Amino acid sequence: RAHLDRIAAVDGDVHAFLHVNAHAMDAATDIDRRRAAGEELGPLAGVPLAIKDVLVTTDMPSTSGSRILEGYMSPFDATVVARSRAAGLVPLGKTNMDEFAMGSSTEHSAYGPTRNPWDLDRIPGGSGGGSAAAVAAFEAPLALGSDTGGSIRQPAHVTGTVGVKPTYGGVSRYGAIALASSLDQVGPVTRTVLDAGLLHDVIGGHDHRDSTSLTDAWPSFAQAARDGARGDVLKGLRVGVISELDDSGFQPGVSASFRAALAMLEAQGAEIVEISAPHFEYGVAAYYLILPAEASSNLAKFDSVRFGMRSASGGTVEDVMAATRDAGFGDEVKRRIILGTYALSAGYYDAYYGSAQKVRTLIQRDFDAAFEKVDVIATPSAPTTAFRLGEQLGDPLQMYLNDVTTIPANLAGVPGISIPSGLAEEDGLPVGIQFLAPVREDARLYRVGAALE
Ligand code: GLN
Repeated sequence: RAHLDRIAAVDGDVHAFLHVNAHAMDAATDIDRRRAAGEELGPLAGVPLAIKDVLVTTDMPSTSGSRILEGYMSPFDATVVARSRAAGLVPLGKTNMDEFAMGSSTEHSAYGPTRNPWDLDRIPGGSGGGSAAAVAAFEAPLALGSDTGGSIRQPAHVTGTVGVKPTYGGVSRYGAIALASSLDQVGPVTRTVLDAGLLHDVIGGHDHRDSTSLTDAWPSFAQAARDGARGDVLKGLRVGVISELDDSGFQPGVSASFRAALAMLEAQGAEIVEISAPHFEYGVAAYYLILPAEASSNLAKFDSVRFGMRSASGGTVEDVMAATRDAGFGDEVKRRIILGTYALSAGYYDAYYGSAQKVRTLIQRDFDAAFEKVDVIATPSAPTTAFRLGEQLGDPLQMYLNDVTTIPANLAGVPGISIPSGLAEEDGLPVGIQFLAPVREDARLYRVGAALE
């Protein structure tokens, strides 16, 4: 009730939600009833959960921020949603996002932007700005996001929240409307590292419906966070700092906060080690070939026949399809479909997509080499604090650069966490520090994150 009241009070300004669950109170009452009847419920039973609109739900529309899916109702729940319900979490509603998760500001949503609760003139990050803003504005205690190039971690950075991109394959993508299937991962958005661990424990683990789902038995991430909070995990921890990532391109307050966090780590016994990752700087370029290529293929299913809207323009099947996609997709989506189709076309495939895949392998090798020397890698989570609405909207390349430090993790499949590291001196806005760990070592991120928090 408190969260529904809070949504009613502030969401007119923040616009974190695209849809509020009209049955949330019923679901919560049902949990109370089950608990009263003596049923053993998990630690998150009865806790409200905001769900990024990229995740399909049977009882609320799922639009992925696009006009083309306006009002679309899914016949099934995403696995992460089904697992959350089974654990007694109460869906509060669906959160706003850049259309099909393309963006770093939530301004590409077809339903209007979300605003940063720290300053309503500023962006909440993207694409999962709705989930991050909901958590930061105390409209929800927990949220689900998806991260293809940074869409959980960069919004966490600009809203002072915690965001985790799990190891690729660690959390099911079944029912997550695909942006780029080899990069997408679902993960938690919360206010504390322990909360993220609790939610990760609920949503993670093998799912036979996702062919890329890992069959590993995972440790408890909540336990990892509790272990980290007890201290001493930082003693002797080798923290890698990438020598090629100097201060250029980073806002001074972001760099200062990062260095202060490193000093704190050192003071608690961690060893800061310079490492080289010479191919990281090509991450954004490779990503913006691989992502549009996969996205152009994934979005081909929105053909006016199978899902969502259909233009009433008439004419041939092809006319209706073209008119529907013209009216249903926004500019950024069209831009990426064109880029991706071009990159995949015969004659250009090797030059663009093929080269980008090679760069991806080189970035994976940079990680492999680095993790022989260090336990985790630390970077600022993003180059700047929250910028003003409209500031980067006319400059797609500028917008793409917001993910310079988050993209390599998606290309390599490694896990990453962003936790608040303080406020930038020049504008008083939140800054995050990112930690990256080897594939399957998500627990390490929870230990380190909770120790520093
Ligand atoms: N900003 C990145 C993009 O626009 C991140 C997207 C994401 O992680 N979903 O592609």
